[in-house]
Order: sequence, then structure tokens, then C-alpha cells
Amino acid sequence: MEIKDIYNQIIKTIDDNKTFVIIPHHNPDGDAMGSALAFKVLLDKLGKHATVVTPNDYPEFLHWLPKNDSVVVWFKNKYKAKAIIEAADVAIFVDFAQLSRIEEFNDKIFEGKTKILFDHHPDTEDFPDLKITDTRVSSTSELVGRFFMETKFSSLIDKDIASCLLTGIITDTGSFNHNSSRTETYEVLSVLLKTGVNKDVIYDKIYNNFSFDRMRLLGLMLNEKLNYLPDFSTAFICLTQKEMEEYKFQHGDSEGFVNVPLGIKGIVFSVFFMEKKDRIKISFRSTGSFPANEIARKYFNGGGHKNAAGGFCKLSMDDTIKKFKEILTEYKAILNTSTI
Ligand code: 5GP
Ligand code: MN
Repeated sequence: MEIKDIYNQIIKTIDDNKTFVIIPHHNPDGDAMGSALAFKVLLDKLGKHATVVTPNDYPEFLHWLPKNDSVVVWFKNKYKAKAIIEAADVAIFVDFAQLSRIEEFNDKIFEGKTKILFDHHPDTEDFPDLKITDTRVSSTSELVGRFFMETKFSSLIDKDIASCLLTGIITDTGSFNHNSSRTETYEVLSVLLKTGVNKDVIYDKIYNNFSFDRMRLLGLMLNEKLNYLPDFSTAFICLTQKEMEEYKFQHGDSEGFVNVPLGIKGIVFSVFFMEKKDRIKISFRSTGSFPANEIARKYFNGGGHKNAAGGFCKLSMDDTIKKFKEILTEYKAILNTSTI
């Protein structure tokens, strides 16, 4: 189907229905929350009833986003979240390709609703009725922005929508460090900036908000917990529950830490291991051609983008790292020849 036909079907679905639920992935990030709340702002302006329901909590640095107070977190308020989802005619999913990424929800809860997906991850499962997916774009927020600007909704793009979508684009590109060389991204950005939104203020809200403990924790990670494996062009850090307690860890405090070791000359693969109650959560980042998502998918129950992926392991921290190091030996040649 042509993109314009899909746009028209999505517009018709919006026009013909009244109640919407918008669902980002588990552990929502800036792109997931930005694209979800941009939809909420638009649907509110259209006089619709729309609610963003997140599977679990999301970092404090996103709590300034427009309409944040209306977000319902399933994990904290299951009864309310369930009632909202059941009452919705349409479910709009953002920023994920597999239903397992909204692990809290049972598929059955979406039965009978029109399911729309906006996403930029590979390997989309066959669950949506209508989808706009493109792995080339910087972010789901870019896709949502393009949908708005190329349809009758363009006149509704305001500062609030622009703030949400800019947040998604800025965070998913690491502030235009990666995944942001296509001119189309800047076409969307240009439309967003024309609302008069101040990009520098948004950047400040997203990044310049460390607590003192968080800054000290980053210091600990870099000074004492950084493992440097130059023979594999790799660096990794790990964070234990004990350290999290010691540094009064708040949700989101380790956001972005995984990117820091990429700043070491020659490092193409950076990994962050975080101890959770029943698993080790792993974040992978790479530069250039090295496929972080392949390692996440094949060995750590996860997936994601080529340069930013995630997964988990049920072994202990020590055994997870041992397993990881074994995998690295298999990829040694690719790691050492990876190019941007
Ligand atoms: P992060 O390291 O920020 O948690 O995740 C980076 C990216 O990896 C996410 O945007 C998402 O695309 C992907 N990702 C993270 N965790 C998972 C996971 O458990 N499963 C899959 N399929 N992808 C994940
Ligand atoms: Mn994204």
C-alpha cells in the first residue's frame, strides 16, 4: 500500500472514533514518551478522548513534557490502566516492533480495537491493523512529525507537539550524534522549530538535570567500574544493586551512561550491565557497522537498532560478563574492522 493510502486510513480511523489509548514500550525513553504525548496533544486538540498508558515508570527527566500529568502508569495503577484500555476504540502503539516490548499487557486486552503502529525498529511483528514503520528514520518522533506535517493535521502542530517530538528526535539521535544524517530528518525539525519552540531550552531540560548523587555515580562508573578491552575495541561498565543503594539511585539515573565509553578513541562497542532483582539488564551501543542488535537478539533475549540495542540475562552479574566476554572472542575480527 502507498504511504498516502495508509495516512488516509489512519486519518479516517481518527475521524471516525472518539476514544484512544496510546501505548509506548516498557521502560519508555524520550522517543517513546515524546511520540506518545505528541499524539495525546493532537488528539486533545481534535476533541477526542486520548490517554497515554505506559507499561511502567519512566525517567524524571521526561516529567516536564506537555500533558505528563495525564499519563497513567500500568505498573502503579493497574485497575485504572485496564479500564482505560478496555474503553478505547483505537490503540496507537509507538516506538516498538514486538508485542513482547509491552510485556505487562496481555494481547487479548487489545482485541476488537483498531491497532495502529508508528515505529522505526526492524522486524515488526504482525500485530497492527495499520502501520507506519521505517527503520531509516532517526526516531518514531520523526515519523509522527512527518505524518502530522503531511496531512490535514499540519495546522495543529504547536509548541507542545514540537516540544514532545523534538525531545524524541534529540534523545534517539544522542543529540544528533548518530542516526541523523538524512536530510528528511531536518525537514521535520524545520517544521517543528517554526512553532517558535526553543530547542536550547528543551536540551537543557533533558540533559542538565543531574542530581548530585547521579553525577557522583557517573564518576564511580568511569573511575572504578569501566572495563577497557582495546583488543576487542570494546568497553563495558556494570552497576550493582549495592552501588545503586549507596548512591540513592532513582529511575533513569543511569540513562546515557552507556554512551560515555564510546568517547574513548577506537572503541566501537560499549555495554552497560545493570543488576535488577531477577535479571541483569543490558544496554548495547556501537558505532558504524557493528551490529549491537545482533548480539542483543542472539544471546541476550533482546533486540533493537544496529547502534543501540538492549536485552537481559538471567545469570549472575559475573556469569553474564563471562558469557559476554566469550561472545566477544567470536566477534573480534568484526569489532576491529568496524567502520563508521
Ligand atoms: P536502552 O539501552 O536505552 O534500554 O535501549 C536501547 C534500544 O534497544 C531501545 O530503543 C530498543 O530499541 C532496544 N531495546 C532495549 N531493550 C530491549 C529489549 O529487551 N528487547 C528488544 N527487542 N529491544 C530492546
Ligand atoms: Mn525510538
